[in-house]
Amino acid sequence: MAVELKNIRKVFQSKQSTEKVTAVDNFQLKIKEGELVTLLGPSGCGKTTTLRMVAGFETATSGEIYLDGKDVVNIPANKRNTAMVFQSYGLFPHMTVVDNITYGLRFKKMSKIAISQKAEEIMQLVGLEGFGSRNPGELSGGQQQRVALARALIVEPKVLLFDEPLSNLDAKLRESMRDEIRKLQKRLSITSLYVTHDQIEAMSISDKIVVMNRGKIEQVGTPEEIYYYPRSKFVADFIGKVNFLPTQVEEGQNNSIQLVIDDKVINMEETEDLAVGESVVIVLRPESISLEKKGKGFLQAKVIRKTYLGSYFEYILDYKGNLITVHLTNPRHKYIFNVGEEVDIYFAKEDIHLIKEE
Ligand code: ADP
Ligand code: MG
Repeated sequence: MAVELKNIRKVFQSKQSTEKVTAVDNFQLKIKEGELVTLLGPSGCGKTTTLRMVAGFETATSGEIYLDGKDVVNIPANKRNTAMVFQSYGLFPHMTVVDNITYGLRFKKMSKIAISQKAEEIMQLVGLEGFGSRNPGELSGGQQQRVALARALIVEPKVLLFDEPLSNLDAKLRESMRDEIRKLQKRLSITSLYVTHDQIEAMSISDKIVVMNRGKIEQVGTPEEIYYYPRSKFVADFIGKVNFLPTQVEEGQNNSIQLVIDDKVINMEETEDLAVGESVVIVLRPESISLEKKGKGFLQAKVIRKTYLGSYFEYILDYKGNLITVHLTNPRHKYIFNVGEEVDIYFAKEDIHLIKEE
């Protein structure tokens, strides 16, 4: 394993009072060589603290951290062979781009020529050719972030750490920088731990996502697993739009299990670990539901809002007082449903994912 965190806990002692804040608790994570793993969660859930403990800027209250199999708890930050890219870039304003990028090489035994060659290589890699003699203030936000990335890459760290690196960029630039970072990370096969609160960013950039909530891990999985098989309502809700339909597990014929919603029954072939009498919720993504004319579908609902969003329509339906969001791409439905119309909703059995009520 390139990175391994075992049972990490971080408690901050407030300076003003006796109050203690548990920022990270019972945190376990393994990152394979060359993988990009993202910590995703709302503000204050402990992402930065976790990253800083890996870097060595923060000491864990308890737990173990291994980099390349080596226990680094007592190894200072500058000896850990990690490099961090920050949201605020953290560039030295009075130094040129080249000096900023090569800052980390000063203390290494390298000739001036070797350093300047290396700087040229890295600037080419991140698309900064010709900008070497400028100061950061003469660069756009995207270019400044490239400098920060170059500065981190030039020391050839074993692990690259990113703390919301794209948050200061506008939407379009954020998207293209995101794709560039991912391409570069894959090409160099550099193990990375990436922090963001943006679910789209996490989905598009990661091999694995760690969803965090209040210092704890809610779920670890690939973007697809996290999106279609969330383990909790928190995860489902945090990753995009979602519908929850409460249902009851009942006994069907021949020892089978069935789900009952109102007077409708869904026979489940696989019983898995469902117990009769248990309360569960069906988790359905907006694109997993289709609309039918009244009487042709499964559950009756009423259209209360319709928004055209280019590649799809978003319908908000009222189903017995619950709001249901449905996304329909244009060619898939010839008939456009209208606000106020009574419709039926339909979903395929394969798209049903269940979460137990907590
Ligand atoms: P995130 O990066 O997910 O927004 P942080 O890791 O920055 O979250 O913070 C997690 C929790 O720890 C928050 O409640 C925050 O207020 C607290 N915290 C972070 N750093 C300190 C500190 N140096 N002293 C006290 N509390 C802190
Ligand atoms: Mg943070």
